[in-house]
Parts: sequence; structure tokens; C-alpha cells
Amino acid sequence: MEDKLTVPSNLAHQNKRLKALLKKYKHAHHLQNALILLSEQASTVAELTLLYPAIHDILQKYVPSKSFYVVLSNRHTNLLELSYFSDEKDGLAIALNQHNSFNEGATGYVFKQGKTTYFTKQQMQDAANNGLFKALGTPAEHWIGVPVFQEKSIIGVLAAQSYDTKQGYSPQQIQLLEVMSLYLATAIERVKKREQLEAEVKVRTQALTQSNAALNLEVEQRKRALQRQQILFKISELATQAKNIDDVYLQLHEIIKSITYADNLYIALYNKDSGWLSFPYYVDEFKKNPQSRRFSKGYSELVISTEETQLIHPDRAKALIQDGTVQRTSPVPEKQMATSWLGAPLKTSQGVIGLIVCQAYNNKHIFSQDDCELITFVSHQIATVLQTKLANIALKKSHQELEFRVDEKTKELRQANLHLQMQIDERKKIEQQLYHDAHHDSLTGLANRSLFLTQLEKTLQEYHRFVEQHFAVLFIDLDKFKSINDQLGHHAGDQFLISVSKLFSQCIREHDLLARLGGDEFVILLTHLTEPQQAEDVANRIINLMAEPFCFKGSSLQSGASIGITYSNQSYKNTDEIIRDADAAMYYAKNSGRNRYELFHPLLTQAIPEQQSPVLHYLEQLPMNFRSSEIITLDENCQSESLLEAFGEHPILGYTSFDILKKFACDKEQHLNVELQLLQQAYTQTSNANLNVGLLPCSSLLLAHPEFNLFTDALSQCENKTQLCLLFDEQEIRYASATQIENLKQLSLNGYSIGLNNFAKDKCELNLLSEIDFDYLLLSSTFSKRILQQASYDLQLQGVLAITKIKNTKVIAKGPAILNFRALLDKHGLGFFIGKQSALNSSLQPSISHSESLQR
Ligand code: GH3
Ligand code: MG
Repeated sequence: MEDKLTVPSNLAHQNKRLKALLKKYKHAHHLQNALILLSEQASTVAELTLLYPAIHDILQKYVPSKSFYVVLSNRHTNLLELSYFSDEKDGLAIALNQHNSFNEGATGYVFKQGKTTYFTKQQMQDAANNGLFKALGTPAEHWIGVPVFQEKSIIGVLAAQSYDTKQGYSPQQIQLLEVMSLYLATAIERVKKREQLEAEVKVRTQALTQSNAALNLEVEQRKRALQRQQILFKISELATQAKNIDDVYLQLHEIIKSITYADNLYIALYNKDSGWLSFPYYVDEFKKNPQSRRFSKGYSELVISTEETQLIHPDRAKALIQDGTVQRTSPVPEKQMATSWLGAPLKTSQGVIGLIVCQAYNNKHIFSQDDCELITFVSHQIATVLQTKLANIALKKSHQELEFRVDEKTKELRQANLHLQMQIDERKKIEQQLYHDAHHDSLTGLANRSLFLTQLEKTLQEYHRFVEQHFAVLFIDLDKFKSINDQLGHHAGDQFLISVSKLFSQCIREHDLLARLGGDEFVILLTHLTEPQQAEDVANRIINLMAEPFCFKGSSLQSGASIGITYSNQSYKNTDEIIRDADAAMYYAKNSGRNRYELFHPLLTQAIPEQQSPVLHYLEQLPMNFRSSEIITLDENCQSESLLEAFGEHPILGYTSFDILKKFACDKEQHLNVELQLLQQAYTQTSNANLNVGLLPCSSLLLAHPEFNLFTDALSQCENKTQLCLLFDEQEIRYASATQIENLKQLSLNGYSIGLNNFAKDKCELNLLSEIDFDYLLLSSTFSKRILQQASYDLQLQGVLAITKIKNTKVIAKGPAILNFRALLDKHGLGFFIGKQSALNSSLQPSISHSESLQR
């Protein structure tokens, strides 16, 4: 039973205990939730003030206290400062007023102790009395202070107080306060950290904002620098791109317009040497093209003299005028005064060359310091460009001047050159003329001896190299040319020579060469020949042409050509040999009756001695029989036996060797000497031979004056005047002067025996026979031949014979010594004959020549 009774009481007790526990756990559960909430708040709140009501809330619910405050230590002042205060007795104001003294009170004591401290009213009193701290504020019944720790260091105190004696603080409540202080510390730290972060963010943001601004400024500056750079580029480009200086000014204006107000802009140039200021570019609302002026006292001069950019506004303008820096030569109307004037000097290494000015009227624009800087900045580049351009212009100008001078000089030189060229041409012409004259015959214009010999020399050399390149030389001597001179005068003779030269030209080809050696002698060089016949053909053509009579001033002239031909031969070593042979052949032709040609044969050379000069020397070398060959001796009856072998040594040339000797004589004097010597020798020979009579060919020169005197002197030495018959050539006598004829007659009168040689070679001049008393008449071989060949000549012979008979002249016929010939002559009544048979002997062997006879 006892057990039964005890059980219910135990149960009730247990029930009570359980109920109390449940209440306690519920309370604890609430507190836990509240603390979790506070913890969350502590870790999220932005400011402490937001946390305090939450703490206060919990405290009110779980701690018997309406009064609660928090003090925190100021890190800098080390004073405890009130952070939160809620008191049912002391107002907030009191608390705040006291905040400075927390350090001295119980709060300060807890802060110093660093321990949770619980005081009852009495205990507080006692402690204060003991001097632990000062009693401050309204004394509470219960006071508890809990230190607030942050990482082991105390940062403040959380205090709660109760004015109710019954309501003290249980250990759980004290523990709760301590937990609160923990949360508070967390929150404080968090808030502090957040505040710190925010401050940092603020500082950083500020720094960033500042750097942003700096950056912006820099960007702006860079932009401006770039713009300026571009402007500078544009300006510097003008130096090369602008067409001319005016274009430079125009484009500069455009550029300035792009950087500032430049409706009115001018560029002035300053010449330091002349002291003048000119305005090559001027754009202005009022002024147009101002005149250049001497450096005076204007705004522009101010810029130049200070070498600095000048910004002038009305106030400064007034001051400048007042202090005399600027002077106006003439008053400027108010309206036309610039209200803002900006001028920058154009500075170069050589000083200020001018200035650039922008100005505004009527306050349309006021130039700023910026404008001032900018224009100063660009002015340097402008100066450089202008200097370059102006220097270029100056250079161009000097170039042009130079070019002009060079042109002038060139013209002068050209003129001088022209003059010189003319002189050179003139000289060349003269030289050519001189050369021509030196190589041509003045009368006929034909090549002369010199040119002919040069050409012949070349031809000969070529022939030695190319043997098949044959050539020939034709030596032409006109027949009886003298008679033309004599009959019609020298002028007519000249004209005749000219006509003849033209005729000869027609007979040859282009590459042949016709030359006049002198007198009536011509030579022709024929080249590219293949046989001698070709040369003979040319000779024939010439002879045929010459056979035609020439007309001159109504007179008919008859001449002829005796031609000697030499054909190329390897033995020829020089041109002299060729000419010599052609000449010899010509003489042969001449002596063979004229108006014919002879082709040279080596045999002919025998007649011509190698050493031709001097003649006298040559004569001494002559073999006696050669010299005597000239002398034909006759007995009284002209019998042949008494005849010397006159032609034995000299079968071909015979009696003509005398002519050759004459040819070799250089002048008249030598000629005369030869003749006189021959005369002497002839006398000696004929007297030694004791012959009746000798025939000696003499030149008509001996009859001329004064030669005739010498001739008669020589004759006077001979004893027998008729021992030698002096033979004169018919042609020479025909053209002899009256004096000569007189002298000839005189010889006859003086008893000398005279004869006419080579009679009727071309003409039969009977009157000569009747006029002069010749002792002998030698008919030319031509005439002899003609008599034989043509019956018509028989009459002429009869005439000759008739006269000679009356005159008692002995007639001797010359001709080839053939039987028929002689017989025929006999038939024609000719008493004497001198002949040779060489003409019959075509081989021309020097085999002959017995002059057979003078036969009856
Ligand atoms: P032959 O038939 O023997 O040749 O006799 P020829 O009358 O032609 O006389 P020769 O050849 O011996 O002399 C030529 C003459 O020509 C000598 C001279 O009086 C003359 N003579 C020389 N040169 C000139 C000249 O330039 N003009 C003229 N008109 N006559 C000249
Ligand atoms: Mg002649």
C-alpha cells in the first residue's frame, strides 16, 4: 500500500519535473532559434545599429533587463565610446553625455579586467568605495558587464542592468549575455570589415575616377597633339604639293580656317636687307591688297621685332598706342578696327621672315590663349614651308636667269660657230680650190700632170698586185697646133684646146683619166683593160674625131692627134718609164706621118737613153755613129754609095732623134746649145768624111732673134758653106715668124745650102718653095706614100717638081726602101730617095736599114 501511495506522488513529482523540463527546453529552444537568428543577422547586417535592436529584443525576452548598452573602444583615442544605449531610467542623452567617462566607471573596470563581472547594488557601491571605479549614473540593483573580445583582444563592453532587486541575473542569463557579446564581436568585425572594404572601394573608386580623368585628359591631349600633328603634316606637304606660292598661301588659309577663326587672314613677308614689309596674301573684310611698306610701327612690326606671337584686344591696343609702341600713320575708322588681332612671327633659322595674322572685327570672334598657342605652334612649320618655297622660287628665278644667260651665250656661241664654220667652209673651199688648182689644168679643167702621175702610180701598184688589171697610157700631141695659134691667135688656140679636151672626154669611160700635160700634150690613163686593142680603139676614136674640122669664129680649123700608147707591162717599175715610153711611141707616130697612133714596143726604148739629163752630158755619151746618123751625106749626084749608114744604129727614129734631143732640153738655151753642138759635130764629120754634102736637120729656133746671131757665128766657122745642107722642117717654117723667114732667106743669100724637110706632111705649101730658094726638098714619107696610093696626089707632085725644077731645088723622097716603092717614085719622076724597109718588116727587128740609096 505504501507503494501505491508513493507512486502517485512520485508520478506527480516526475510530472512536475517533466513539465518544468519541457518548459525549460521550450525556452531553450526559443532562445536557440533567437540566437541562430541573431547569428545570421550578425553575419549579414550592414551596420551595428541594425543589430542592436535584435540583441535588445532577445535580452528583453530572456534576460530580466530593460536597460542595456554597448561601449566600444576607439582605436585612436583608446576611450570607450557608447555604441548602443537603452535604459529604462537614464535617457539616451544622459548616456551620451557620459560617454566620455565610461573608462572610469564599472564599464571601464570590466574593459580593463577583461572578465564578465556581476555587481549587485551593494557590491557596486563597495567596489566604488574601494576605488575600483567611479559610481556613475543611476545605481542599478543588478549590473552585469561582459567584455567583447575580438581575436583575444578586448574591444568593448556589453552591459545590462536591472533596477529591480528581485530580478538578478542567473548564470544562464549571464552566459546568454556572453554569447551575445560573441555575436556582437562577430557583427562588429564584419561591419568593420565591410566598412573597411567599402572605404577601400571608395578610395579605389576615387583613385580610379581620378586616373580616369587623367586618362581622359591624356587622351584629349593626345587627340589634340595628333590634330596638331596632322595640321603640321598638311602644312609641310604644301612645300611639295602646292603648284605655286599663291597656291601655298591659299591652302595655308584653308588649314588655319580649320583650326581657328580666320575670315580675315594675311601673310606678310619682311625683307631684313631692304627693311620693307610686303603683303603677298591678304584676305580682309575691309582692306584689299595693301601696298608694301617700310618697316614702321604697326602690329605686324611689333610681332617681327619681338619675334613673339601677339594677341591684341582693344584694351591692349589702346595701351600700345598710348605708350607709342604702335603708331597709326592714318586714322582707322572705329568700325574697321580689329576687335581681336592675333599675329605670329614666321621664324626660321635665318630669323623672322614675316608673320601670319588672323583678325576679327565687331567681336565676331575673340582669339583665346589657345588660339594663340595653336597659331604659334603652326607658324614655325608655315615659316619653314614658305622659306623652302620662296627659296625654290628664288632658285628657279636664278635658274631661269642662268638659263637665259646660257641661252644667250649659246646663241652667241652658235653665231660664232656659224661664223667659224663659214670660215672653215670658206677655208675648205679655198683648200679644195687650191687642191683642185694644184691638180688640174686651169685652161681645160682637166687633171694635170701631178694628178695624172699620182693616179698612174696607184694604178701601177695595183697592177703589180693584180696582174690581170691591165691599163694603158695614151700620150697625145696635137698636130700642127702651132699653126692654129699663128693663124687665129693664142686665144683661139686656147679655145681649140678646150674643145679638144671635151672631145677626148667623150672617147673614154668614167673610170679612165684624161689629163693635160701642158701645151698641146694630153695623156689618158685607161684602166680595167683586158687587151691592147681596147687602148687602140680609144686612140682610133680620138683620131677619127680629130679628123673633123673645127669651127672657130667662122674659120675652119684642122688639126690631128699623134698618139703613143703604152700597155701595162710587169717590167714597169715606175711611172716615168711608162710616160717615157708613151712619149716615145707618140713621137714615132708623129714622125710616121702624124694623125695616127703607135703602140709602144720595147725596141723603141733603144732610142731613148736611160740618163736623159742634162742634155749636154747625154750628148757626150752618144756614140759617134748615132750622132752622125743625123747626117745624110750625098755626093754631087746624090749617089748612094757616098751615104753613111745613117740609120744603121737608129733604124726607127732616124732623123727624128734630133727632136728627141730637143725634147730633153730643159729650156731654150739648152736647146740652142744642143743644136749648135750638133752643127759643129756635123761639120767636123762631113769634112772628115770628105763627103760632098751632109743634110743636117735644124730647128727654126736658130732662125729666131737673137739665136740667129749665134747660129751664123757657128756657121761662119765652117769653111765649106755647101758641105752641109741646113734642113728646116716644113711645118716649122710654115708657122715661123717673118724674121725667121727673113733670116732663112739670108742664109741662102749668104751662100749656105738650105733645105725644106718633111714637106707636105699634111698640106702641100707650094708657095714656100717658090718664096724661098731651097737647095734641097725632102718630101715627107707621108706624102711619098700618098703619091703611091692616091692618084690625086700626083698633081701635087707635079706641081712640086715643076717649081723645084725652076728653082733648081733637089727633091728627095723619104719612104720605105722597097723596090716597088722606088720604082713607083721613079715613075713619078723623083730623082732621089731616102728609105728604110722597116715598115715592111712587121717584126720591127733592128735588122736593117741600109739606106739604100738616093737613087736616080
Ligand atoms: P706637131 O704637129 O709637130 O705637134 O706640131 P705643133 O704645131 O703641134 O707644135 P708642138 O706640138 O711642137 O708645140 C705645141 C705648141 O703649142 C707650142 C706652143 O706655141 C703652143 N702652146 C703651148 N701651150 C699653149 C697654150 O696654153 N695655149 C696655146 N694657144 N698654145 C700653146
Ligand atoms: Mg703638137
